[in-house]
Amino acid sequence: MTKGTINVSVENIFPLIKKFLYSDHEIFLRELVSNATDATLKLKHLTNIGEAKVEYGSPKIEIKVDKDNKKIHVIDQGLGMTTEEVQKYINEVAFSGAEEFIDKYKDKVDDPGIIGHFGLGFYSAFMVAEKVEIITKSYKDEPAAHWICDGSPNFTIEPSDKTERGTEIILHIAEDSTEFLEDSRIRTLLLKYNKFMPIPIKFGTKEETLPLPEDAKKDAKPEKVRVDNIINNPNPAWTKQPTDLKDEDYKSFYRELYPMQFEEPLFNIHLNVDYPFNLTGILYFPKMTNDLNIQKDKIQLYQNQVFVTDNVEGIVPEFLTMLRGVIDSPDIPLNVSRSYLQADSSVKKIASYITRKVADKLKSLFTENREDFEKKWNDIKVVIEYGMLSEEKFFEKAEAFALYPTVDGSYFTYEELFNKIKAKQTDKDDKLVILYASNTDAQHSYIEAAKDKGYEVLLLDSPIVSHLMQKLETSKENVSFARVDADHIDNLIKKDDTKISKLSDEEKATLDELLKETIPSEKFMVQLEPMDSNAAPFIITQPEFMRRMKEMQATGSGMFGMGNMPEMYNLVVNTNSALVGEILNTKTKKKQERLISQSLDLARLSQGLLKGKELSDFIKRSYEMIK
Ligand code: ADP
Ligand code: MG
Repeated sequence: MTKGTINVSVENIFPLIKKFLYSDHEIFLRELVSNATDATLKLKHLTNIGEAKVEYGSPKIEIKVDKDNKKIHVIDQGLGMTTEEVQKYINEVAFSGAEEFIDKYKDKVDDPGIIGHFGLGFYSAFMVAEKVEIITKSYKDEPAAHWICDGSPNFTIEPSDKTERGTEIILHIAEDSTEFLEDSRIRTLLLKYNKFMPIPIKFGTKEETLPLPEDAKKDAKPEKVRVDNIINNPNPAWTKQPTDLKDEDYKSFYRELYPMQFEEPLFNIHLNVDYPFNLTGILYFPKMTNDLNIQKDKIQLYQNQVFVTDNVEGIVPEFLTMLRGVIDSPDIPLNVSRSYLQADSSVKKIASYITRKVADKLKSLFTENREDFEKKWNDIKVVIEYGMLSEEKFFEKAEAFALYPTVDGSYFTYEELFNKIKAKQTDKDDKLVILYASNTDAQHSYIEAAKDKGYEVLLLDSPIVSHLMQKLETSKENVSFARVDADHIDNLIKKDDTKISKLSDEEKATLDELLKETIPSEKFMVQLEPMDSNAAPFIITQPEFMRRMKEMQATGSGMFGMGNMPEMYNLVVNTNSALVGEILNTKTKKKQERLISQSLDLARLSQGLLKGKELSDFIKRSYEMIK
């Protein structure tokens, strides 16, 4: 037996390791299974190139929990280590690796989530174990070695009688870590970190029912056998070539990733690049709701099939964090803080590659099957609009597939829309006015008024669309968006023809006086307009600018302080309408006031503004009238 002291400058490295990674103790298992996987893949390589003249077979990794003896075993059938190799790789390399790690990260304990992403390697075993044993037999024709270390820098190493090739790591679990002796905890961890690792991982056994032979008797019972319980899928879809995968394969992989998700994804994007960086993965577009926040953090980041994190902030462009799926890249530096990450040039390249791939996919979906794309638009528009707002490159590319639906269910690209409406909807100052509604029911009468003029009305109802309109207004020339209820339709798209008023100036003054007496000025700005005689007599409008600023502020940015402004409405009174004529000609003041209140209430009703007591009074009054 050889005794030795591991040569480290830090007096006792183990308590330090424990302290540093306090919240990340669980990563020990990921590290040990990764090492077992590495050892197996190395052997595969050596046999492939003829360096190792042994049978590779179909090796697996086994995890065993021995609760009674407080031990966890991690067993592999990889290349193993000779005594010299244990000395070198464990006592020297792994230790110096651990030491280096601590040196580097001791100032960063406050940066949550970083340390755990970076492998501390073999020594992370001491976060949960008070003693660790390695029993290992190399593929080379040399005796097996048995290394024991009790958590101090002292170790022993002696020959062992292990005959099968590979390595067994035995952790003697410390008193404060007995949670890891629960099968359920280990299973959860294996599923979290190792679900897609490339070597089969066995954890216990399970019962399987054998199929009945063809000539089985009618009442024959199927035979049950115990088989290895393999917890991982060693060949996940993203590691395969897109040409080898069918639509159903992508869907079933989605179910594997999100077993609790019952809705199917709308489509997927297979990422596959090896220069100038290495990246594979599959992204899925799920059905989006209008709630932007709850949809994030569903993309999983892997490095060589080892799960790292599901926070891909800084790696994937913000707007794509609403997607789902996996990204696997060994080239993403994880041992840095998030802000460093965002500044890293290779990470920037990765982000722009992903953006480009997503844009290309959307474009091809649009051109290959426009009808289907239109059907999906409502479920994906939030991501696309968000992308157009936040990534200039994406904004440019989206020109080809971003859609603008109308209230009648037609879908236009911007260019199509432009060509369709430019003749009719260009105002006297040569500005193109794009009309839209946000709710076809609430704005029904305004939509009808616009349609009567032969105008197109878009239906724009996603939460960030006000920001997008703002962006389009500044990036396109001479274009403005106006919601149909922002003003009377003749004012929204001003043409040169001046309307002739039926009222004399004197009558107008009288009317103005009358209206001001009855209508609360703090709520409505009265505006007299000579309009078509068959247009509504009273119309309530809400100026575009104020309303949009308020909306923008509600979803971030916009103008500061707008959120606190009271709602402001205009009351447009059609001086050419018959009713207004009647109001003027009515003899008694009381009757005049009643006509005005009733008309105002009707206008409020059509904007959905009549509520509570005012609504009750209105209904009561209306019943009186029809009696
Ligand atoms: P890393 O995996 O980053 O090299 P580790 O600290 O995890 O660092 O492991 C140190 C070294 O110990 C490995 O590089 C490998 O040579 C050796 N090693 C660890 N576990 C095994 C194993 N199960 N089989 C063979 N060699 C191993
Ligand atoms: Mg390792």
